[in-house]
Amino acid sequence: MSKLLIVKADQEEALFGDGGWDAVVVVGDANGLESHPEIGQLVAHAAHVDARIGKEPLMLMAPGLAGGRLVLAPTGDLDNEYEDVRRFAEAAQAGIGIALRAGARAPLLLVSGNDDLRYSQALEVALMGAGHEIYTPFDVSGPEVTLGVLGLDEVARVNALENGRIAARDLCGGDPEQMAPPAFADYCVELFSDTAVSVSVIDDPDTLKADYPLLSAVARASFAVERHAPRVVRLEYVGEGVISRNWFLAGKGVTFDTGGADLKIGGAMAGMSRDKGGAAAVAGLMATLAQLKPKGVRVVAELGLVRNSIGSEAFVPDEIIESHAGVKVRIGNTDAEGRLVLADVLSHLRESVNGCENPVMFSLATLTGHVGRAYGPYSAVIENGVARGQALGGQLQMVSEIWGEPFELSRLRREDFAQVAARSPSERLLSSNNGASVNISRGHQFPMAFLVQASGLDQHGLGSDQPIAYLHLDIAASSVEKRDPLYGQPTAVPVATLLANLLDH
Ligand SMILES: [Zn+2]
Repeated sequence: MSKLLIVKADQEEALFGDGGWDAVVVVGDANGLESHPEIGQLVAHAAHVDARIGKEPLMLMAPGLAGGRLVLAPTGDLDNEYEDVRRFAEAAQAGIGIALRAGARAPLLLVSGNDDLRYSQALEVALMGAGHEIYTPFDVSGPEVTLGVLGLDEVARVNALENGRIAARDLCGGDPEQMAPPAFADYCVELFSDTAVSVSVIDDPDTLKADYPLLSAVARASFAVERHAPRVVRLEYVGEGVISRNWFLAGKGVTFDTGGADLKIGGAMAGMSRDKGGAAAVAGLMATLAQLKPKGVRVVAELGLVRNSIGSEAFVPDEIIESHAGVKVRIGNTDAEGRLVLADVLSHLRESVNGCENPVMFSLATLTGHVGRAYGPYSAVIENGVARGQALGGQLQMVSEIWGEPFELSRLRREDFAQVAARSPSERLLSSNNGASVNISRGHQFPMAFLVQASGLDQHGLGSDQPIAYLHLDIAASSVEKRDPLYGQPTAVPVATLLANLLDH
């Protein structure tokens, strides 16, 4: 575990050793720091003897500057029309990495600005990159770091955000035993005890089987193993004042996915402890809210925590199971388990909407391999008709761009509904085809057609008495670094995007 505190360094003298800082890290163009000509001079001199200046991250000896160390972390060409703000996160990550390895524990971060609107959150995104570098998993001892930042008025928000991101990374990254459903739930209970977020856990097997029948089918082979048994964690935050935003979040928390009876073979099972990134990100957002306590917003979340095990009790394809919303579902493939977990969780959240104004519902999940096939390392957002009518997906995409967690906007189509339509009179829906989503067209879009119907959200479309805007976020290719579920560090995507969407737009 590492500790990080971000502190506003408002003294210009801080640069010269009076603030206790032990390195100066410049992100971006060091020559562009007009308010700090002494740094520009140092860099200009160094450029005479080192052609890497401005091209690669590196450290200069800088007697007179805080800690005697100046780390330069260039972003590369920001004018290129296809660039985005992630350049700042990557540069800050590289620069802070050099400072930490050099021994610094109180680096001062300076971000060289850029007027382009694409880079309006460059400072915050650079802090996220720095935070990512400083983070070490909860089961490893890590440094205690105080990060100074110049030019940022409000540090409460970046600290709350980073603490939420740490929780999200801890929960996503824990191994199959450390973060099995009961352990994941315990982490949440501890995280939210005595905070502004209320937390409750459903652990009674009979209650789970009655109220979450699809989720419990996925968990059927894990009920008997106490430490692997399923949990539903419910979180609620109600801010002070008149509530103008009502959000409902469902998180997929498959703590380990063997595929079930449709067993993942050929080495495809390794990394499947990261199939809980959606639930982890929801918990991370709630942790940020618990610390920041914003006014006027209500956020209700449910996390479906299940281990998809194989065993003599395991559910199998062809079974027909009635969802919490009363929809008979034929199982197509037991490895398409995330949508089963989410459908029941969404159905419960639907009941919580209960007449409130302008409800917006989200599902967050590492749902399909197809999203990576379609979009590479990007996340996908898909809207129902109500959300599309309010352009909520486009807005989320815009926010995600400036916060360095870019989403692509996908659209739900009639073919997606045909894909999950009943194949016999005995069921109303087919959960999936019998192959891997990655191999079929529209593999990340059509699961939403299932989610909308199996959860009963199709009763809340345009023109209904209680329309509910619903956005499905597939983060299967972005919730760990480098699209590497085996060894990539969790990214905490899209906690920053959701927070900005909730508070600023
Ligand atoms: Zn699966």
